[in-house]
Amino acid sequence: PPGQESRPRPRISVCVRKRPLNPRELERRELDVVSVPHGDVVMVREAKQRLDLSRYLENQVFRFDRAFDATATNELVYRHTAQPLVETVFRRGTATCFAYGQTGSGKTHTMGGDLSAASQDFSKGLYALVARDVFCRLRRPSCEKLELRVYGAFFEIYGGKVYDLLNGRNRLRVLEDAKQQVQVVGLQEQEVASVEDVIKLIEVGNRARTSGQTSANTHSSRSHAVFQIILRARGNLHGKFSLVDLAGNERGADTGNSNKQTRLEGAEINKSLLALKECIRALGYNKAHTPFRASKLTQVLRDSFIGENSCTCMIATISPGLRSCEHTLNTLRYANRVKEL
Ligand code: ADP
Ligand code: MG
Repeated sequence: PPGQESRPRPRISVCVRKRPLNPRELERRELDVVSVPHGDVVMVREAKQRLDLSRYLENQVFRFDRAFDATATNELVYRHTAQPLVETVFRRGTATCFAYGQTGSGKTHTMGGDLSAASQDFSKGLYALVARDVFCRLRRPSCEKLELRVYGAFFEIYGGKVYDLLNGRNRLRVLEDAKQQVQVVGLQEQEVASVEDVIKLIEVGNRARTSGQTSANTHSSRSHAVFQIILRARGNLHGKFSLVDLAGNERGADTGNSNKQTRLEGAEINKSLLALKECIRALGYNKAHTPFRASKLTQVLRDSFIGENSCTCMIATISPGLRSCEHTLNTLRYANRVKEL
């Protein structure tokens, strides 16, 4: 409409999602200390102690672009986070969506769809929802002459090394050329023509991610999983959407009385999550320098932080229970810093 300039979309948005108390927490009658009083406010009741050792609860209030309470569906979360970025990849851009939070707070539930449910329905996760809308957008007549093709890729970063989840966890090398273009050498890109094709890739990748592991969560809590939907026009990269299920942020603290392997993994995770924060902040500030080389995660996602047409959203997932309070506050503080300009 005339007089109404279309404002440029902010390049970063940060949202928070609270999950419901799980059966275990309900059984032990754990206190729900998180509330979402408005659509953009999260409040945590933190237990504190006075000098005389008496206890009291203090409200910690945080504001984000959007806050979702425990009743929010994946579809609703999607609508306010990843969906607005789909247009970016059709405009030759790079869209990226991160799920950040404590292990068990709902990152994989949000991104992939529920792995723990017996039915394993991946059609409701953000991976599949992005694919759905990419295929839908592709059918527009204006798209036809571009002859766009869609590809899926899925890899994980574990202990600073990259593994292809669509190719038997093949170890991949990361190279940077003279123009600072970063390449994951040999990464499988499989052409997909439908959401069903994409769901098959998710299944293959999830199996590779958890194979040989005693418990699905111990491994995935220590690795970052990156799912990509890539658009190509006659072979040339047109746009890319990366959806990242990050390692559990509490793992960064695995530095105390644990074995050497766990400590090294914890240090690596810590490093990558700190680098991620700085890179997203640089994107928000339009800073000249982006420290993407500070970790493998940020290096392989370099394009997400650099370039005119890069948009990012972060979904910080939090557990509602009193016992998780400290991790929840850490997650909210981190998310706050990402956004703070
Ligand atoms: P993470 O990937 O962060 O470690 P998960 O996504 O695996 O956590 O979630 C842990 C458990 O909580 C799973 O059983 C999952 O089904 C459940 N869960 C997480 N988020 C929600 C939600 N918003 N609604 C219902 N159940 C959820
Ligand atoms: Mg997970």
